Amino acid sequence: MAARIIDGKALAARMRSAMAEEVKQLAGQAVRPGLAVVLVGDDSASQIYVRNKTKALAEAGFACFDHHLAAETREEELLGLVRELNADRSVDGILVQLPLPKHLDSKRVLLTIDPAKDVDGFHPENLGRLLIGEPRFIACTPFGIMKLIEEAGTTVRGANAVVVGRSNIVGKPVSVLLTSADATVTVCHSKTRDLPAVIATADILVAAIGRAEMIRGEWIKAGATVIDVGTNRLPSGKLVGDVEFAAAVERAAAITPVPGGVGPMTITMLLANTLESARRRSSSNS
Ligand code: NDP
Repeated sequence: MAARIIDGKALAARMRSAMAEEVKQLAGQAVRPGLAVVLVGDDSASQIYVRNKTKALAEAGFACFDHHLAAETREEELLGLVRELNADRSVDGILVQLPLPKHLDSKRVLLTIDPAKDVDGFHPENLGRLLIGEPRFIACTPFGIMKLIEEAGTTVRGANAVVVGRSNIVGKPVSVLLTSADATVTVCHSKTRDLPAVIATADILVAAIGRAEMIRGEWIKAGATVIDVGTNRLPSGKLVGDVEFAAAVERAAAITPVPGGVGPMTITMLLANTLESARRRSSSNS
């Protein structure tokens, strides 16, 4: 039987409309959740990401403070802006769009963001807090992945979960979240021996590699829940994931599509983290 398609777009729409309602209620307490988005340079993919984020924020009633700086901006100037945003009471979250132009040290920039406003969840303090089970902000893509697994109705406790990819922004944090949710987790990467054999054990598979349809459908355990994070553009222009969808859909119990799975949830969790930060501001005001 074909797998259930986990509709990230529909889940994201439901979550965003619930958040829009809460934003209206917060307005009664004179709090409007606000996100500052900093874009340096003219990278076209980054411009599209920023446009999508600001559109989603506006639709849900959030304030969005756009800062578009020239590609040749000096590091001190950028750090100065981040410090200003740290001190600005109307800013609940700060997002610096990556990648930055090569002459800028992105680690230094991310370290300058106040961890209490780091709604991307990339600051080492927030990653450390996640590791010890006291998260403040969970990085948006891993957070969205956990929501999609919940949406699929999959039991995580005791499940064998396999995460392919070990990046700081997806693979590692999602493996920590799955461990905290009582799954038995295996993390794979480019040096993993016999990837198909490991994937065959997965009740839950998270693919975050960045290689078009690298995971063959026949590797997938019958009845698995498959979360495909990969976004790969084929020469034809078509967007595909890291999993061979057409074959995987025949074996899995539930699977996310690309596009329309993880992508919409990543932006949604950015809104959720910004709203959470605003809630904290509202309770510290009262
Ligand atoms: P990275 O390039 O940082 O990490 C890729 C990981 O895949 C690495 O750990 C790498 O291993 C592993 N890998 C590469 N080749 C193989 C292989 N042959 N077998 C097993 N593992 C392999 O990518 P990201 O984590 O940033 O992103 C992964 C994908 O997810 C990309 O397609 C990206 O576009 C997408 N993405 C989508 C988002 C969304 O919102 N939809 C958000 C973020 C990412 P090693 O560590 O050994 O090099």
